[in-house]
Amino acid sequence: MEKSPLILILLGKSGSGKGTQVNLLKDKLGLDFLGTGALLRARKMVGDFSGNKIADVIDNGGIVPPPVVFKLWMDKFEEFKNKGDAFKGVILDGSPRKLREAWLMDDALGWFEWDKRVKIMLIDISDEEAINRIAKRKICPKCGNIVVIAGSNDSDVCSNCGEKLIIRPEDTIEGTQKRLEWFREEVAETVEHYESMGRLIKINGEQSVEGVFNDIMKEIEKDDNN
Ligand SMILES: [Zn+2]
Repeated sequence: MEKSPLILILLGKSGSGKGTQVNLLKDKLGLDFLGTGALLRARKMVGDFSGNKIADVIDNGGIVPPPVVFKLWMDKFEEFKNKGDAFKGVILDGSPRKLREAWLMDDALGWFEWDKRVKIMLIDISDEEAINRIAKRKICPKCGNIVVIAGSNDSDVCSNCGEKLIIRPEDTIEGTQKRLEWFREEVAETVEHYESMGRLIKINGEQSVEGVFNDIMKEIEKDDNN
């Protein structure tokens, strides 16, 4: 039997290592990627009314309302659908956020007949762990490689490209607390919603990158084997 495309919704706080897992999973499973942030950034480059307004909202730290986001998802999903059997599935990075987006996501997945194999996972870490990790984090300004500095002897050049690693200006304790607050306000109710429906898979995020990856893979393979 032809397998239904895998829809993997990955949620997690800043510092949960979500971005790293997205990249690993994409490569391993040959999945497409949908990041609402990237879609909005691309959409704002179109200098029409909505493009300009999206730019305005984002630049002022606001939230683009669900119908606007939904339209972007639907267009992207249509592209995926047009790939036919070549479409193996998609990772949704950090969406849906607000509860209304969660409802709309269910509608969208239902519309495209992708509601058979939806996995919603939270890479779970405590606020303390998030702050602790981000305080030790350095990033390569050239290739985006993220490195957690474990000891003072660790190299401060990028292992990928040799560029000198930097601390991002927003990676302060204050900046991190702001992002954690944002998660509580914008995402927590969606996490609770999925949890109350018995649809949330919690992944222990307080372990190695390989450990998190293996746990995610186990959850993906679960229903594929029975
Ligand atoms: Zn680099």
